Amino acid sequence: MKKREFKSESKRLLDLMINSIYTNKDIFLRELISNASDAIDKLYYKSLTDKDIKLSKEDFEININFDKDLRTITISDNGCGMSESDLENNLGTIAKSGSLAFKQMNEVKDKDIDIIGQFGVGFYSAFMVADEITVISKAYDSTDAYRWNSKGLEGYTLEKCDKTNIGTDIILHIKDNTEDDNYDDYLTEFKLKDLIKKYSDYIRYPIKMEVTHHNKSKDSDEYEDVKEIETINSMIPIWKKNKDEITDEEYNHYYTDTYYDYEKPLKVITTSVEGAVSYKGLLFIPSHAPYDFYTKEYEKGLSLYSKGVLIMDKCSDLLPDYFNFIKGVVDTEDLSLNISREMLQKTKALNVIAKNIENKIIKEFKDMLENDRETYIKMFKVFGTNIKFGIYNNYGIDKEKLQDLIMFNSSKTKDLITLKEYVNNMKEDQKDIYYASGESIEKIDTLPQIEQVKDKDYEILYLTDYVDEFTLNALVQYEGKNFKNVSAADLDLDDDQKEIEKINSDNKDLLTIMKETIQVSDVRFTNKLKSHPVCLTSKGNVSVEMEKVINSMPGDETINAELVLEINENHPISDKLKDLFKKDKEELKKYTKVLYSEARLIEGLSIDNPTEISNLICELISK
Ligand code: ADP
Repeated sequence: MKKREFKSESKRLLDLMINSIYTNKDIFLRELISNASDAIDKLYYKSLTDKDIKLSKEDFEININFDKDLRTITISDNGCGMSESDLENNLGTIAKSGSLAFKQMNEVKDKDIDIIGQFGVGFYSAFMVADEITVISKAYDSTDAYRWNSKGLEGYTLEKCDKTNIGTDIILHIKDNTEDDNYDDYLTEFKLKDLIKKYSDYIRYPIKMEVTHHNKSKDSDEYEDVKEIETINSMIPIWKKNKDEITDEEYNHYYTDTYYDYEKPLKVITTSVEGAVSYKGLLFIPSHAPYDFYTKEYEKGLSLYSKGVLIMDKCSDLLPDYFNFIKGVVDTEDLSLNISREMLQKTKALNVIAKNIENKIIKEFKDMLENDRETYIKMFKVFGTNIKFGIYNNYGIDKEKLQDLIMFNSSKTKDLITLKEYVNNMKEDQKDIYYASGESIEKIDTLPQIEQVKDKDYEILYLTDYVDEFTLNALVQYEGKNFKNVSAADLDLDDDQKEIEKINSDNKDLLTIMKETIQVSDVRFTNKLKSHPVCLTSKGNVSVEMEKVINSMPGDETINAELVLEINENHPISDKLKDLFKKDKEELKKYTKVLYSEARLIEGLSIDNPTEISNLICELISK
């Protein structure tokens, strides 16, 4: 019999499992039972089309046995089983789901072990409680059975053996007790029953175990032990149970187990609809982005069940892209079990359900905003960008349904507010919705052009997310109010512009020289800056912030905002410029360059010629 090596990556994970300081060792049973259930699922699907498989749904079961003296727990299923190469490939390498998470962590530190334990490391988790594992399996399409055995790191053996039935037996040899861990516990009826009920209650196949009842004997007052095989799990999927009978803890457990999350969900949404299309839905809002959320591997979707049988694991048509972070299940009576993916997309029932689910989510979000704002804000901080993206994606087709779900930081409350709240708080003389964009609230607050709006006591929305300005652009208006960027060149809060217009036309030639020196769209004097000497604004549809976002995207496309350099008419620098125009035009150009660089730096833009500018500054201050 040949000893075989584990693949190196598997070895590392195995090592972690064997020497695990991971506290929740209990999950091993859940992992093995869920593998057994998956294997039964596979054979069940096959049986629907393959006449040679003479098993009906009622025949499938999972059995748990234990032997205190031999220190073994056996988990048996009559699922699809594994062939020789399956055993080699599946149990010699760490499973896909586990390895994906594992690869995310370059260097596994002690604190990460808790996290690993939650990623469904699957079969290997059994090494947390067992020092030897034997797998005896016969695949449904094979006449031979095989025995896989491993005592851990040093490798495993694989040989032919006898087994009559199709399916898999997993035999765990339980570790001896240590100072810290009582492994004997697992060799008790009480503990095993408890673990099955706690973690695997909703498994759709019966999990059977021999249990002992202390019954009063018929003939005497003595008690006697009666052993009986019993189904331990209720087999009712959690979404089919009556909502009032389920505790928050059960929902949380279901969520963390099913989606391999280590944190409970922020919110659980249940829905049950009877009508032309009937279905039950159970949705979860995660409390943080899934570990692969920002990778190509992430797939949105809800699990789709028909009459309690899984038809599709991630049915993406059930969720719009902007709600792609939501997890959950839909179970309907109105789809046939053998429906193909292609047919499914065209099914009216599915579209109706998807629409309803979307409306339900929006309604729940609005409810949360009103009644549980704190949780909503937590959700929005993690997933708000997606919702905002939904507003400008697809040419803004969904903007109306989503516009009341988005929030921005307010200059007044210093907290997130909705557009509705903004409009409700608008001053009587205020016509527009004001916003300012920048990297952070602190940076925006230093923008010179902010002062005048604050002086009017108008609220300003701080746009700090790269999608924000695109979102407002897509909305165009909210409740008939226009959005106004405080950095827009045409922002005129003072009704009387005549005076400043006159100053600008009187100094036309001066401004032309300045404009030609720095090549911007315009240079002008302004009365809107209070204490700051200069600021940069933009004309047209592209703001400075949008220019930054678009130019930082991959691709060759670049875009330039039409910049306007504005000079504070009330600042001494204005007189200086006018004076230089009369006396020394070359000096005027130097001043212009320095002022323009100042304005760019304030906006967070880079300067093309830093050496020239720093020399200029030195020259000017040395005079
Ligand atoms: P995962 O379940 O995440 O894929 P595991 O390490 O638990 O990872 O299992 C690896 C693979 O071994 C499974 O994907 C499955 O193909 C196979 N397997 C595990 N247990 C069984 C079983 N009881 N019956 C048939 N195949 C199994």
